[in-house]
Amino acid sequence: MNEIIKTCPFKNRCGSCKYIGESYKSQLDRKMKGLRDLFLNKQKINYIISMDNPYNYRNKIHMAFDIDKNGNILSGQYIESTHKVIKIDSCLLDDSLADKIIVDIRNLLPKYNLSVYSEYKDRGLLRHVLIKRSFTTNETMVVLVLTANKFTNKDAFIKELVSLNKEITSIIININDKFTSMVLGDHEYTVYGNSYITDVLCGLKFRISSKSFYQVNPVQAEKLYNKALEFAKITKDDIVLDAYSGTGTIGLIASKYAKHVLSVELNKDAVKDAIENAKNNKIKNITFIQADATKYINKLAFEKEDIDVVIMDPPRTGSTKEFMYSLYKLLPKRIIYISCNKETLKRDLDYFLKFDKYKIDVIQPVDMFPHTEHIETVCALSLKKSS
Ligand code: SAH
Repeated sequence: MNEIIKTCPFKNRCGSCKYIGESYKSQLDRKMKGLRDLFLNKQKINYIISMDNPYNYRNKIHMAFDIDKNGNILSGQYIESTHKVIKIDSCLLDDSLADKIIVDIRNLLPKYNLSVYSEYKDRGLLRHVLIKRSFTTNETMVVLVLTANKFTNKDAFIKELVSLNKEITSIIININDKFTSMVLGDHEYTVYGNSYITDVLCGLKFRISSKSFYQVNPVQAEKLYNKALEFAKITKDDIVLDAYSGTGTIGLIASKYAKHVLSVELNKDAVKDAIENAKNNKIKNITFIQADATKYINKLAFEKEDIDVVIMDPPRTGSTKEFMYSLYKLLPKRIIYISCNKETLKRDLDYFLKFDKYKIDVIQPVDMFPHTEHIETVCALSLKKSS
């Protein structure tokens, strides 16, 4: 393979691409070694599923805005572990159109008198811009995060921004006036187009709003979901629990093979999107529950519900001991644990496997985040025969 290895001038300051500048194969080997070491070479781990073109894969881009000491407007990423912005016009991981829209916004700010928020001076309006894109429908959302609802020239600004980028189908103003490292504030409203974009994944349509979680690398997400479903071996008699379900992606894809799917998710906006997604895809054998996954599974276990397969996809912090304990009470025949953090995956599995009822059948990593140190893993567990 004749690989052209790209490097990034911001590598040591931005800090997100720890592996950039290294051959892709060597990055994959490094991720495999990390996983094998963690599991002490005791489990069957398939080789990581790679990405054909491991660049410009991110469909969600967030840039911070700031002003330097000479008064120049900056947009880019924070220097690692600081709130100091380094100017970045294009990133090897980002969708190129999303990066261009950010630069267009930066160039338009003076003309429309939109001031930039300075954390140091605690003054100014624009804090961040978030872009979400669909690579299948080309729909594009722009979220302007402001410190106050005081952008008087917004109509003219929007008109010009949309004329420069016809792909934009949604513009949202989000107000974040808190002293916080969270990007989005609680209050927001749509100023152009829809309040969401639509993406197509595994043959289904998904509505994505500003706050709901959606995988940032859709090309690899499709491979991940297909693997998870292959391992889940769901049949038409099965009741499936999809825990930490986001906008319902995995549950909706699984519903085709199952009798019924129960999807539980904490974020209200994501659940709203999930309900719409079921309607738009004419899927009826799925129920969405807005709740804490641990509380919900406790209830299922207490009520001795029959659950045949559990697919769980918790955030980086992993699941909880209580959740894992309830799993063992429910005794599904198969559990598919999807994880974006191998340490919390290992922690949860170590606790769970102590009950000695389940075995790990296979671990399948997927490279969702090329050039970074992150690794996504699907772990398939099944009930031991004697149980
Ligand atoms: N399975 C989805 C989302 C995975 S990300 C997908 O592939 O798109 C993890 C999700 O867990 C997020 O949507 C987050 O909002 C949700 N979450 C975080 N803590 C939770 C909790 N305690 N209970 C239920 N859901 C939670």
